Amino acid sequence: MSTMQVFFSFEALNSIFLSKKAQNTTVGFVPTMGALHQGHLSLIDIALSENNLVVVSIFVNPTQFNNASDFDLYPRTVESDLKILKHYSENVFVLVPETKDIYPNGTISRQYDFGGIENEMEGKFRPGHFDGVGTVLHSFFKMIQPTVAYFGEKDFQQLQIVKKLVKIENLPVKIVGCPIVRESNGLAMSSRNKRLTKRQYDEASFIYKILKTVKSDFGTKNAQNIAQWVENEFKNNNYLKLEYFEISNEETLKPMIEKELNQKYRAFISVFAGDVRLIDNIALN
Ligand code: AMP
Repeated sequence: MSTMQVFFSFEALNSIFLSKKAQNTTVGFVPTMGALHQGHLSLIDIALSENNLVVVSIFVNPTQFNNASDFDLYPRTVESDLKILKHYSENVFVLVPETKDIYPNGTISRQYDFGGIENEMEGKFRPGHFDGVGTVLHSFFKMIQPTVAYFGEKDFQQLQIVKKLVKIENLPVKIVGCPIVRESNGLAMSSRNKRLTKRQYDEASFIYKILKTVKSDFGTKNAQNIAQWVENEFKNNNYLKLEYFEISNEETLKPMIEKELNQKYRAFISVFAGDVRLIDNIALN
C-alpha cells in the first residue's frame, strides 16, 4: 500500500503537489510544530474526511516564541513524527520546511493589527507571539493555497487570530476549529506534555478538573467569584502555578463583566508546572 509523501521544501512539494491540485480537488491544511500526538492526528483525520488532499506541515516557528529557552527546549522529534504519519495514504503530503524556506529575509515577524484580540491573554503574557503566528501562517497559506485549514480549539485565541488574519489579508481559505483532545486524566494533549515529569503529568489533571467545576458553576455564580475561587484553589497546589484565569467573550476575547444575552463565553487558563507552560479552555454556554 502506498503511504504519505514527505517533502523538505516548498519547491519539492510543489513539483508534485501542483499537478495533483489541478485535478479539481480540495486541499486541507494542518499546520503543526511536530512532536505529534492524538490532538494533531484528530485534525488530520477531520481534514481527510473533508478533502481529497491534505498537507501537514511540521515546523517549529522561531518567531512565535517569546522565550528563548521555551524555543530551545521545545520537543523536536521529526523522525518519530514521520513514523507516526506513515499509516496515512498517499493523499497526505507532509511538509518539513527549513527556516530559510519560510524566512528568506531573516527570522523576523510582520506586525499585525488583529483588532485588539491579540492583546488579551496569550498576547499579554507572550508579547509578539501572535505576530509570529500570523507571519508563519500567512507564508504557508500563500505557498500552499489550501481550501480549508484546521486548527485546534486547544489554542482558541490562536484560532480566532487566524480567522482574523484571513479576513485582513483577504485569503481564500476557510478556517475550521476542532475539539480539544485530552489525555485519559483530562489534561489537554500538548507537545509540551512530553517535558512533564510523571508527577507533574498526574498533578496537571487538576487543570481540567477546575475547568469542569467552573463550567458547572457558571450558571449560578458571577465571574469575579469564580475567578477568586480558582485563584485560591491554585494557591493550595504545590505543583502548579496559575499564570492567568479568565472568563471571556468568545468573539472579542475580552473578560466578561456581566453575562449578555446571545453571547458565548469561555474560561481560559494558563498554568506552569515547573517551567512547562500549559494552556487550556472550556466552553461555558
Ligand atoms: P502545535 O503543534 O502545538 O502548534 O499545534 C498544531 C495544531 O494542533 C494547532 O491547531 C493546535 O491547536 C492543535 N492542537 C494541539 N493540541 C491539541 C489538542 N489537544 N486537541 C486538539 N487540537 C490540538
